[in-house]
Amino acid sequence: MPEFALDLNDDQKAVREWVHGFAADVIRPAAAEWDEREETPWPIIQEAAKIGLYSLDFYAQQFFDPTGLGIPMAMEELFWGDAGIALSIVGTGLAAVGVLANGTEEQVGTWIPQMYGDADDVKVAAFCSSEPDAGSDVAAMRTRAVYDEAKDEWVLNGTKTWATNGGIANVHVVVAVVDPELGSKGHASFIVPPDTPGLAQGQKFKKHGIRASHTAEVVLDDVRVPGSCLLGGKEKLDERLARARERAKTGGQRVKNAAMATFEASRPAVGAQAVGIARAAYEVALEYAKTRVQFGRPIIDNQGVAFQLADMRTRVDAARLLVWRASWMAAAGKPFDSAEGSMSKLFAGETAKSVTAQAMQILGGNGYTREYPVERMHRDAAIYTIFEGTSEIQRLVIARTVSGVPIR
Ligand SMILES: Cc1cc2nc3c(=O)[nH]c(=O)nc-3n(C[C@H](O)[C@H](O)[C@H](O)COP(=O)(O)OP(=O)(O)OC[C@H]3O[C@@H](n4cnc5c(N)ncnc54)[C@H](O)[C@@H]3O)c2cc1C
Repeated sequence: MPEFALDLNDDQKAVREWVHGFAADVIRPAAAEWDEREETPWPIIQEAAKIGLYSLDFYAQQFFDPTGLGIPMAMEELFWGDAGIALSIVGTGLAAVGVLANGTEEQVGTWIPQMYGDADDVKVAAFCSSEPDAGSDVAAMRTRAVYDEAKDEWVLNGTKTWATNGGIANVHVVVAVVDPELGSKGHASFIVPPDTPGLAQGQKFKKHGIRASHTAEVVLDDVRVPGSCLLGGKEKLDERLARARERAKTGGQRVKNAAMATFEASRPAVGAQAVGIARAAYEVALEYAKTRVQFGRPIIDNQGVAFQLADMRTRVDAARLLVWRASWMAAAGKPFDSAEGSMSKLFAGETAKSVTAQAMQILGGNGYTREYPVERMHRDAAIYTIFEGTSEIQRLVIARTVSGVPIR
């Protein structure tokens, strides 16, 4: 098991510099344009693919970094560049992780390459779980998957919402109900292959921030997928459902929810994205405070401004430490006994929101305009207390975990 260390090794430093270079030279200069266009920045994704930054290989390498710091480091640098563009680059990863976590080796080998495409023909993927009536309350999901035994096909019907890359993805991963009696234990994940009839994009949302990232409804109308598209396979599903039914009947002890454990392990990566946005805004504010002169001296000469910057930097570093702790725990296979994954996402998300707001304040009128990047960073940061579990849901998870009380 790797020791927890804050010293990055030479390989990690090299990767960080490489990702930072792409974020500084390619992503940051394009940020304002794609924010205004509110479109997926395909040319930038392609640039990332050309250098191997948009690829399964890159994410797998970082994922298997034994210290656990590969992914949070890469995320922080990309999102330091720009959150909307970075989300377009890493959004496919959410669907890929869904397949890696639940799929067979064959499914991983077949579908993940199709999620990324290649540098000449880049593709994206979407992970579709949320529904209009099932956001925080995942168990309220209604999209149904029914098995047609005669044809060995699954038939999917329902409406998904808020799907990052929904409708423009080559491959969609869709979570659906296979046994409504079992609540979230009766869910399964399916691959919807490219160009499958019946899957259509619904409304594309016009958003407050991360506007370069495509978010849309996905409508599933009698979508038929082969039996082989059930992630993990039918045998494993049947066994899992039988165990869940048995437990429901006997009121047996709940085994630790595997989905919850996966969320705990993936939340630090989302926290790292928020750290990247917060750090970016802090840096802009620091530079501005040193150069903007009022009353004959730089505004940083005022404690009122300097102390804000001190607090901002402290919060950014504290958020990164929580993210790194949880990432290391996930890599080391340590149990999240105090919901450390949720803690990192909660604190980093709230930090991004508050630090970007303070940055706008320090830039005064300029901070409020699109001439400077901090208003965009503030708009982007706001999603980090909402998606991948709202701040309230993180607090619920932490409170339940540390108290053992089933707080509602
Ligand atoms: C830009 C964007 C991208 C997204 N990408 C994806 C994606 O790729 N795939 C996907 O499946 N989903 C995605 N989502 C969905 C996202 O995960 C949900 O929006 C989120 O889980 C919250 O669900 P909701 O919007 O329905 O809010 P609700 O669940 O309706 O919550 C509304 C408010 O009530 C609070 N609340 C709810 N329950 C409780 C409770 N028990 N205690 C205290 N407070 C509570 C919430 O914290 C929130 O403040 C995305 C969303 C957005 C906006």
